[in-house]
Amino acid sequence: MAKQYDLLIRDAQVYDGSGGAPVRTDVAVEAERVALVGDAGGAGATIEIAADGLALAPGFIDVHTHDDFAALSHPDMSFKTRGGVTTCIVGNCGFGAAPFAAAVEIGGDLMSMDDLDPYDGHAGYAAALSQRGLGANIGMLAGHGTFRVAAMGLDDRVPDDGEMATMKALLREALDAGVLGLSSGLIYEPGRYAATDEIAELAAEMRGTNALYATHMRDESTGLLDSVREAIEIGGRAGVPVQISHHKASGRESWGLVAESLKLIEAAQASGAGVHADQYPYTAGSTMLRAVLQNGAFAETTDGDAGMATIRPADVVVASAPGHPEWEGRSIEMLCAELDLPPRAAAEKVAAEAPGCTVILHIMSEDDVRTVLRHPSTMIGSDGIPTLDGKPHPRLYNTFARVLGHYARDEGLLTMETAVHRMTGMPAEKFGLTDRGRIAEGAIADLVLFDAEGVIDKGTFEDPNQYPAGIHHVFVNGGQVVRDGAATGDRPGAVIRREG
Ligand SMILES: [Zn+2]
Repeated sequence: MAKQYDLLIRDAQVYDGSGGAPVRTDVAVEAERVALVGDAGGAGATIEIAADGLALAPGFIDVHTHDDFAALSHPDMSFKTRGGVTTCIVGNCGFGAAPFAAAVEIGGDLMSMDDLDPYDGHAGYAAALSQRGLGANIGMLAGHGTFRVAAMGLDDRVPDDGEMATMKALLREALDAGVLGLSSGLIYEPGRYAATDEIAELAAEMRGTNALYATHMRDESTGLLDSVREAIEIGGRAGVPVQISHHKASGRESWGLVAESLKLIEAAQASGAGVHADQYPYTAGSTMLRAVLQNGAFAETTDGDAGMATIRPADVVVASAPGHPEWEGRSIEMLCAELDLPPRAAAEKVAAEAPGCTVILHIMSEDDVRTVLRHPSTMIGSDGIPTLDGKPHPRLYNTFARVLGHYARDEGLLTMETAVHRMTGMPAEKFGLTDRGRIAEGAIADLVLFDAEGVIDKGTFEDPNQYPAGIHHVFVNGGQVVRDGAATGDRPGAVIRREG
């Protein structure tokens, strides 16, 4: 009798995630693992898909997300899986999911707080995710900013010994719960109040584990190079690998600096340090309006305390304005005219009347985006802010399709196999995601079947709520979460805990 599999995908162009050239063959799955890569002959399967040369890749790993709360409130995670994503790394930019009260206090806006039941620590957070059931896998990072708020509120000072001990104890709980590392957000409140010593001392709690340090650096503008040096120094002092989040040069006066910051990464790698970066493939960023104001934007005079650079009112566009949908899609410059206020006052009024307001920031150069994307140290992370209403940055749904379709296929910046590697095998290795990020017998069956000729991002800044084209079928741990481009509603995902 012919062999029977749970899933058999015939005649696919298989990108195995290693960066090697694709091979046209069959892939079969039993339970949650790949059982065969090769000619399946006369075998059958419960689900059989004739790929007819469509591309089959490991599911995309979104290494930079803020989906901590959205995974609880929208557990089918279709807002990620319909873009081909099968694993989300949460807890970035210093905003972790625990302790709960501190997470809500500083991260509620960024992470789209809904009506959630409190939980206890990262162990409680992981348990809540598992209890809901997930459409995608979640890997957790702990957040320095969240720990700092829990230990000492929003104070702008050095922590005392007791406060430092509290942060270390919170990190140890998180490590025991399986977090993959610690993130910082040194541009945000309260991360910006933390000196290098504080971060290095806390991160050193991870020495001897395979957890990493991920950072939204102190200054991504004219201070970019010093910020990269600080990140590398912290990794060196703590004895842990480093992930530089959303690598960019922010603001016109810093454009071009990425050529130098990439050299710093190369030098660190040459000395044996595990330093890498991630990137979203757009010239605009997005964050909380509150944070933009805290960084001194639109002040009459700037005192140089502007880690996001001097930002022009025309370059800042409201993405989500709770209670004020009429402001969404409007720039601060437009709102100045409508509200008859100067830029700073207009932005402050919007931030006050629409708490949780997020904005799009048109602050990067296309040349820099390309320079970073071409570089072999760069993996892909959406940095999407999961405000599922409003006008979120199109990166939320479209990051991976844009890298594959626009930058790899249409612009030729990368080969398709390299692009796939940067979103699969490379991040799996960096974040310690055992048996993921590759298509091989025995690997876990996180898979995406897509049209290499047709895959493309669809969302625009004006009309961002669109899913990409060309993503046909998506499987998480062997279970189908997207069929013919539509979410199945199934939740085969899991919390991925650190091993070692
Ligand atoms: Zn960030």
